[in-house]
Amino acid sequence: MRRSMVAGNWKMHGTRASVAELIDGLNRQALPAGVEVAVFPVSIHLAQVVEGLKGVALSVGAQDCAIEAGQGALTGEVSSEQLRDAGCKLVLVGHSERRLILGDSEEQVVRKFAAAQAAGLIPVLCVGETLEQREAGETLAVVARLLDSVIDALGVAVLSAAVVAYEPVWAIGTGLTASPQQAQDVHAAIRARVAAKDAEVAGGLRILYGGSVKAANAAELFGMPDIDGGLVGGASLNADEFGAICRAAGN
Ligand code: PEP
Repeated sequence: MRRSMVAGNWKMHGTRASVAELIDGLNRQALPAGVEVAVFPVSIHLAQVVEGLKGVALSVGAQDCAIEAGQGALTGEVSSEQLRDAGCKLVLVGHSERRLILGDSEEQVVRKFAAAQAAGLIPVLCVGETLEQREAGETLAVVARLLDSVIDALGVAVLSAAVVAYEPVWAIGTGLTASPQQAQDVHAAIRARVAAKDAEVAGGLRILYGGSVKAANAAELFGMPDIDGGLVGGASLNADEFGAICRAAGN
């Protein structure tokens, strides 16, 4: 039985003051016990969030990590070891904004994934197709390629200590959501691809859906058999809305 997860990606949002308000709001939420809840603030707010949510059953994660796990000469980067030291349990790797806007290559994503695990963090590997790729009928091939780049380099067993997030690029921050069936089809294909290499790893793998998840559509999405929760961007900046999404995953 897979434990559902709802992860809030705060992206490049927040000031110390607005983050304090969000922390207050999250402290007031009734979060369901059966759901793993995590938030991903920007790095400079990690300490504030870890401290502010101490009493809440919620994990803190980072939005990215360096290609090396330890410390060294890599100006501007934050390593997985440093994120762990700051109180993180998870880290996003390969978010489409990093792949498409900031130029993270598949090779870099693999190195970040490995560096995360080397430091004891759980990587949340994000995969998804652009609108052009979907319209060209390439969705499953693209998702398979992004997944395989990690499996081929590191072995399928690494997915037993990781989470996968299917995030169609055309649904991120656009208000467009994949229908529950569209999402389920891709999630099932991801699980089948992993199962072809290792059925046990596939059975335990949590696959989150991301792309304009909100309280109004969460329950329907999370009701699909291969959707194990959500990676939530915009809606995670509102504590009440995020709390409602978490509760939808608990039902
Ligand atoms: C995201 O950034 O991972 C995301 C899914 O964003 P949104 O929920 O705003 O579409």
